[in-house]
Amino acid sequence: MLKKILDPKCCAKCRFCCVFDRYDAWETPVFTEEQRDRIRAFKPDTPFAVKDGGFILRVSEFDENGLFTCPALTETGCMLGDDKPFDCRIWPYRIMYVGGRRAIVIASNCEEMFNRPLAELVGFLKNGAADEIFAYADLHPEIVKPYYEGFPVLLFEQKSRL
Ligand code: SF4
Ligand code: SF4
Repeated sequence: MLKKILDPKCCAKCRFCCVFDRYDAWETPVFTEEQRDRIRAFKPDTPFAVKDGGFILRVSEFDENGLFTCPALTETGCMLGDDKPFDCRIWPYRIMYVGGRRAIVIASNCEEMFNRPLAELVGFLKNGAADEIFAYADLHPEIVKPYYEGFPVLLFEQKSRL
């Protein structure tokens, strides 16, 4: 979804958002059943937990550097390709509940996007991306996270959800 604003070549070099530490392990994506099955076919021992209508990774073991790498990450990128989780397709945008309303926020740890002008980040949302994100969240409310401190809010949904 972000190809118009974020060059996939940047992500191929970076891969930052496929690796987690114990402080951002809550950020691992929510998978659909089909995505879970594809990962399990690739790595059968991958532990998942059910979250609302989706599946999340059980993150319990970290490597010697204190990091957990998403099991879908391969040498050539995400094994799920264009069918990666919605969370991953919109990162570093996130959707969260802020004061009872859904809002689109941005993660500060994507330097490539976070340093863009606000008008560019919000403009991209207003040009259709926000509608797509809210529409997906209507069908998959499990992707909406409680507000987490430090994520600047870019755009509120117009109608109240709670
Ligand atoms: S942190 Fe940003 S640039 Fe890096 S892989 Fe994630 S979205 Fe791409
Ligand atoms: S599902 Fe793919 S894009 Fe998402 S965190 Fe895992 S490897 Fe990265």
